[in-house]
Amino acid sequence: MDSLKKNWFTEACELWPGGTFSFEVKEVLCDEKSEYQHVQVFDTTSLGKVLVLDGIIQCTEKDEFSYQEMISFLPLCCHKNPEKVLIVGGGDGGVAREVAKHPKVKQIVQVEIDAKVIEVSKKHLPFMAVGFDSPKLTLHVGDGFDFMKHHSAEFDVIITDSSDPVGPAVTLFQENYFSLMKSALREGGIVCSQAGTIWNDLQLVRSTLSHCRKQFPSAAYAYASVPTYPSGQIGFVIGSLTPDARFDVPTITFTKDEEAAMKLRYYNSEVHKAAFVLPTFVKYQLA
Ligand code: SAM
Repeated sequence: MDSLKKNWFTEACELWPGGTFSFEVKEVLCDEKSEYQHVQVFDTTSLGKVLVLDGIIQCTEKDEFSYQEMISFLPLCCHKNPEKVLIVGGGDGGVAREVAKHPKVKQIVQVEIDAKVIEVSKKHLPFMAVGFDSPKLTLHVGDGFDFMKHHSAEFDVIITDSSDPVGPAVTLFQENYFSLMKSALREGGIVCSQAGTIWNDLQLVRSTLSHCRKQFPSAAYAYASVPTYPSGQIGFVIGSLTPDARFDVPTITFTKDEEAAMKLRYYNSEVHKAAFVLPTFVKYQLA
């Protein structure tokens, strides 16, 4: 609680030194140490409920839909028939909520390392934890890296909704994790991983994309605007077993009515295409 002064929480992390983001707290709803990390939930004056792990904002009620929709619908809509999906991490339930909406998804398997995050999200963040109620979902508590070692040729899409590469998520940003994911995919499979921001950590984006490129014949970086993440932007590395995959052309497009029925507030086909268009300095750095 050192970072909570006069009802303001200040995010601080070694990954983005010298700058910070703060929000005003109405009430501390949870402040516990799990086996893996410090778990906090705040009710705030401007962002609704906020989940913080080891001092880093994971999601806020105000803008979580942007991240959850994009990390889910980008890979799902790059795949012709994403019937079986694996989610690694995602302990708040938001990605399961989004993946379950896709009409072609029949089965979702999720592996989250920290049972405490699931428990706390069910109690305080029901707007995301509703994802755990999907009849399509089988939820495991365990390490995503270890889980991947024991599964081969099983999934159409693997989404890694991990925390940042400090603590239990470090292994999920390594090249051997991309190699294990490749083995766990069926033919034509696609992976999508949280991959950091171009403004604060372009080196992380570069290394994650490079690991993906070494294992997959097609790979790209796409991004979304999420105001409460460092620098207000976050990206995803997408890899496909299909050579020359056209990630920027969605395989399925939804009508306005379908988007409304799925309660999509950020993702649509135009946003999908635009997410792969990179600023010049990023294109140069990721070439
Ligand atoms: N949207 C968030 C972000 O990018 O900041 C991520 C949210 S989600 C809460 C991240 C989850 O990944 C956490 O619940 C954390 O416990 C989980 N996680 C971290 N390392 C993991 C691992 N090795 N295996 C499975 N889950 C992991």
